[in-house]
Amino acid sequence: MKKIVSFDLDGTLVNGVFGDMVWNVGIPEEYAKRYPLSFDEAKQFIISEYNTIGDENILWYTIDYWLKRFDIPVSSDMLLERYVDYIELFPDTEEVLGRLKERFTLIIASNAARIFVEKEILHTGIARYFTHIISATTDYNLVKKQETFYQRLCKTLDIQPHQIIHIGDHPIYDFYVPSRFGIESYFIMSDGKDIPPILSSNQEFLERHTIRNLKELLTKI
Ligand SMILES: [Mg+2]
Repeated sequence: MKKIVSFDLDGTLVNGVFGDMVWNVGIPEEYAKRYPLSFDEAKQFIISEYNTIGDENILWYTIDYWLKRFDIPVSSDMLLERYVDYIELFPDTEEVLGRLKERFTLIIASNAARIFVEKEILHTGIARYFTHIISATTDYNLVKKQETFYQRLCKTLDIQPHQIIHIGDHPIYDFYVPSRFGIESYFIMSDGKDIPPILSSNQEFLERHTIRNLKELLTKI
């Protein structure tokens, strides 16, 4: 019997624009103000700096590290606050959460740092649907939702993998990894997204576990 439904946050419940704005507009803009550069020059430089660290390193996700490294005189909280109007729920998020809450315990399992997750939850007012809100990077010090993440999640929730359902928009970290770990998982596929070859080998399984939008989940679970 399934007990818990776990949701990824960005690209699953909420659109992913907010993070993009903070990292790729806010920080370059501040940098261009601090040093004599155009926005485009600053952006190019900032992105090349991000790439020297890379997304396998926890620092990549740590906004205070970057503000300090670039010597930008603005707090992370102020910077994030500037873009909260970009945080938007997908149209069917609240309806789906409301319906599922009648049957399951709901949680969020996000890769984003807690400071981002909290702004998104607060701004959208969806905290009331969830018993746990977990950030892989902040809470577990893990950079991706690899198998270790799902092991830790089950331990935190004191539950077996077969008692959880996970939904997310990343084909590997929200679908392939948890499915292999024994978690019933659903992949939200948006238009134009490529399916990694590792998934296309079992077409029937993939089709059964792919949804086009959150509402379709209600027909699956
Ligand atoms: Mg996502």
